[in-house]
Amino acid sequence: MSELVLKNGVIYTADIFDSIVEAAAVKDGKIIYTGDDQGVKNFTGPATEVIDLNGKMVLPGLWDTHIHMPGAKLTELYHINLYDSKKPEDALKTISDYIKARPDKLIYYGGGLSPDIFSGEELLRGPKKERLDNICPDKPVIITFNDLHGCWLNSKALEINGITSQTKPHGGGVIEIDPETGLPWGILKETAMELIKFEEFSGGEILQAVKEFQKMMHGYGYTAILAIDAPAECLAALSRSGELNMRVSGSFVFYPDKPLNDQFDELKKIRSAHDCPLVKNNIIKIFVDGVVEHGTAYLHEPYLEGGKGPGQRGIFLWDAGILTQAFIQANKEGLQLHVHSIGDAATGKVLDALAAAETAVGRGDYRNTITHLQLVSQGDYRRFRELGVIANVQPYWAFKMPSVWEKIDLPKLGERAWHQQPIGSFFKSGVTVTASSDYPVTVYPNAMRAVKIAVTRDDSSPSHYQDYAVKNGRGDEKKAADIAERVSIRQILRAFTINGAYSTFNENISGSIETGKDADLVILDNNLFDIDLFSIDRVKVQKTIFRGKIVYDADSINQ
Ligand SMILES: [Zn+2]
Ligand SMILES: [Zn+2]
Repeated sequence: MSELVLKNGVIYTADIFDSIVEAAAVKDGKIIYTGDDQGVKNFTGPATEVIDLNGKMVLPGLWDTHIHMPGAKLTELYHINLYDSKKPEDALKTISDYIKARPDKLIYYGGGLSPDIFSGEELLRGPKKERLDNICPDKPVIITFNDLHGCWLNSKALEINGITSQTKPHGGGVIEIDPETGLPWGILKETAMELIKFEEFSGGEILQAVKEFQKMMHGYGYTAILAIDAPAECLAALSRSGELNMRVSGSFVFYPDKPLNDQFDELKKIRSAHDCPLVKNNIIKIFVDGVVEHGTAYLHEPYLEGGKGPGQRGIFLWDAGILTQAFIQANKEGLQLHVHSIGDAATGKVLDALAAAETAVGRGDYRNTITHLQLVSQGDYRRFRELGVIANVQPYWAFKMPSVWEKIDLPKLGERAWHQQPIGSFFKSGVTVTASSDYPVTVYPNAMRAVKIAVTRDDSSPSHYQDYAVKNGRGDEKKAADIAERVSIRQILRAFTINGAYSTFNENISGSIETGKDADLVILDNNLFDIDLFSIDRVKVQKTIFRGKIVYDADSINQ
């Protein structure tokens, strides 16, 4: 007999046939039956917990394959939390209230600031230091952007970190300079942020934040993640105490200007010290360029305005030879690659290096991933397929705030702005696609919103977006991407489930609802195949089940 039976539902299995079944049974945390309601009776005994789904939908537990853990939770618990500030005044009030309430602190840290809420010169460079100086002239204030690619400092913070207009950041970093005074503006971008000493959190603080993170993820139906810069030690501790209820593939950032061998040794040390059944620390994260917003994403054609680097094409952060060397060594040692690449030229160079590595090491089952892929050259899609490279996309980003669209995307990219964040072209080219939020860059990693955007990519009925806009106070969103890039519900669900499992070598135990696999499941309060596409983001998770155990239950929370 089984311990748990789900029946009378629409269970999307994400198996190879994309089957939908009515019922499933779970024993010892594993799926032992999928099929119809009649058949599941054979697995139902007096001690079985039976959930009548009443036509509701069940999905495999979701995978977010690029997420920062614990992300905003550290900020929410311990710092100035600006994730919900929609206007400069809101942000400044939050900062000022926090500082007034904590007069004894020596340094004030904050996070989650959206640089998009500013206007004019401050939208392009970031907010000025003087705004912070007015609130706090005598102690350092350091505020990180929600995109994690820049930070905002007051004069005191610039001073104690020794940053002047003469400071030269390494590796393509940017120190914004005030053109009127010739002094630092108050904004550091990309690798220039490494000039700052950030607060080190204690193990206990990180543990608490990771628990909060896990709770949030269960609420959205996730049972697995690929964590950027994973807190490996803390995850191992949670695993030992039995409190870890998700699978984690941990990734660790490699830098272009540190010796490769040292970085490989370091990762292997982490792997042997902290790997456990649910956590595999096996992935190298590499940034090869910056972001379009800062003119640092590396493009084939120059930015129309605000482009950094030679020819205003943005910045490629690695020497091509060293990058290839890193890829070769990773492939040889069975480590996976997860490469941040935003610009079309950056992705072209990464594919070149992956091809060179394959030539050197030979064909293999490497499952390397390129993430973000904001702009992609037509000719590169088939190279993903040929090289077996996985495309990790953030569907959330196909919609932009009107201010960002009008002041950043269109003026910087021109015609290219209309072809950002492709998804459909990858599927059409036979590429394996995985999906992610990049939370906290995406403030709410609600996969149902990503599904809605991926399957519609249509802003022709602004009213459809009103609920979201009202809730988030951000005004109507605007289309920033081609409707031709939309995909089917099944395609995007596969990206969030079985493809995520495949991309981390977990497809034999998770990612689909099939006999023998772990029972990682999400019960939704509606059937995605049966409702208006534009209302998909209102679908809520009712229960999240990890290895047969209910880890989130909306009913018990609402009571
Ligand atoms: Zn990134
Ligand atoms: Zn990221």
